[in-house]
Amino acid sequence: MIKITFPDNSVREFNEGVTPLQVAESISPRLAAEIVAATVNGNQWDASRPITTDATLKLHKFEDTEGKHAFWHSSAHLMAEALDALHPGVKFGIGPAIENGFYYDVDFGDKSVTDKDLPAIEEKMLELARRNVAFVRKEVSKQEAMDFFGNKGETYKTELISELADGSITFYTQGNFTDLCRGPHMPNTSEIKAVKLLAMAGAYWRGDEKRKQLTRIYGITFPKKKMLDEYLVMLEQAKERDHRKVGRELELFMFSEKVGQGLPMWLPKGTQLRERLEQFLRKVQKKYGYEQVMTPHIGQKQLYVTSGHYAKYGKDSFQPIHTPAEGEEFLLKPMNCPHHCEMYKFKPRSYKDLPVRFAEFGTVYRYEQSGELHGLTRVRGFTQDDAHLFCTPEQIKDEFCKVIDIIFLIFRALDFPDFTAQISLRDPNNKEKYIGSDENWEKAERAIIEASAEKGLKTVTELGEAAFYGPKLDFMVRDAIGRKWQLGTIQVDYNLPERFELEYVGADNQKHRPVMIHRAPFGSMERFVAVLIEHTGGKFPLWLTPEQAVVIPVSEKYNDYAKKVWEFLNNCDIRTLVDERNEKLGKKIRDNELKRIPYLLIVGEKEMEDGTVSVRRQGEGDKGSMQMQQFADLVNNEVEQMLASLK
Ligand SMILES: [Zn+2]
Ligand SMILES: [Zn+2]
Repeated sequence: MIKITFPDNSVREFNEGVTPLQVAESISPRLAAEIVAATVNGNQWDASRPITTDATLKLHKFEDTEGKHAFWHSSAHLMAEALDALHPGVKFGIGPAIENGFYYDVDFGDKSVTDKDLPAIEEKMLELARRNVAFVRKEVSKQEAMDFFGNKGETYKTELISELADGSITFYTQGNFTDLCRGPHMPNTSEIKAVKLLAMAGAYWRGDEKRKQLTRIYGITFPKKKMLDEYLVMLEQAKERDHRKVGRELELFMFSEKVGQGLPMWLPKGTQLRERLEQFLRKVQKKYGYEQVMTPHIGQKQLYVTSGHYAKYGKDSFQPIHTPAEGEEFLLKPMNCPHHCEMYKFKPRSYKDLPVRFAEFGTVYRYEQSGELHGLTRVRGFTQDDAHLFCTPEQIKDEFCKVIDIIFLIFRALDFPDFTAQISLRDPNNKEKYIGSDENWEKAERAIIEASAEKGLKTVTELGEAAFYGPKLDFMVRDAIGRKWQLGTIQVDYNLPERFELEYVGADNQKHRPVMIHRAPFGSMERFVAVLIEHTGGKFPLWLTPEQAVVIPVSEKYNDYAKKVWEFLNNCDIRTLVDERNEKLGKKIRDNELKRIPYLLIVGEKEMEDGTVSVRRQGEGDKGSMQMQQFADLVNNEVEQMLASLK
């Protein structure tokens, strides 16, 4: 018999060799029908793979991240099988699960396969799924693996196998189709009930531009047809609010091939928006005792060797900048932390000075492969709303509470009511992996757990997800159409204070190491603005939006009066513009609605005589006519009330 420990810490005995699926069946057949995969002793595990030792067990349904991963990964195998059946001779690269669905990189040889072929592939996948066959795992030797794929002429697979260690290689087979894979997979193909192949793209083998370009086919699958239908509706909505599209329409930011891929440029309106966000955060942070600092965009290579960032980013990122001086090398900064560590050392620090809180809107540069770049969410240069807090171990909890408060304020001001956080802790069975003493780790982990509970944060706790240098808390928001985005993070660090030999003098007159906390509530300005656009569809809150009102004269005759209104409102600090174009009123209204300007002010004969404006609020319609001052008060009150509600 073996002992199985469940997530609620209850323990039950089973026969050696029991599978997670059998464990699920012993609980309820309905549960078993929904199980896609499992985690056994912290390892990803097939639901149908025997467990032979005492173990901790987590069962995963499709609803879990791990469940989706196994489901979609299995679907990639199924698509490969369908491609193999429809296009004999096709060669396979890699086919992983991704955040939403899966892809497979394939080499069709001389054949041209286009999106027109996708429906036939979907049909074939559903037909293969209905056979109701199991995904069977098999451990093979390296030689066996080489022979198997070598005989089939699968050169991409043999290249991958040649780099694997013998003894760690597994095959998965469904029906007659076998793939090289680590797994895990779902028990059976028949759970795949709905298939949609979403797109095709070119992808260089192993991301290397000098190697062959393969065809990447993206798809998604679901255990229910209804879930696919809902997903496709969501995709349509997502297309409408794609931040790249909205950003262009609202003239917020741009990219230029000439300047370089992945290097966003903020247009005037985007800059206004970003500056307003920065001002907002600066103000909040000042209240919480942060001090604003500025540091250069580059640093000596040795700085990042000391910090360890060179080992992490060096080879795969921007290469050192050389100067006329022999041997002198600088790097574009991939992180602001090393600079802040040096600033901490500017003068001796006493425990009475702590916490020291340095905040910087710090621009960093990290090289991403061109295929990975995406609008503002994946770029090569971005500005973090960064801060580093240097404190004593006893102060960690308090500092976490304060950062959580700041994040709450931001989510309230920007209307993200739905968010959760993940607490990432050490893997208790693998403590050697982490630096810092046991005592410090326990203190920090307890501080994060207690701070989150005290603040009433909805959290999930993941063991083994901490960085090697400290535990962390990550925030996820759900946007208006149900998508999840990772935003801010708070992270304890025992490593950098060690590497930079940071010290403070304690009450005992001895030298101690401070704890460092990295935190960025927005994550980066670029990513945050992207998420905000996707969340709001470009209809920003009134306090933030670049333009709050537009004056629309019904004809050119009233342009002068429109300008008078514009001048009045600008004097009242309301961001206003005039649409003087010689266009029909209906067109002007439509165009300005597309620009997501909250208030449209129509002016004609009557308004000019009375000194009024006729007010329309986007999404709410006609608000009647108002004196200019009355309208100014309306807008300013709305903004002030919002900002006051944050205090
Ligand atoms: Zn696989
Ligand atoms: Zn940092």
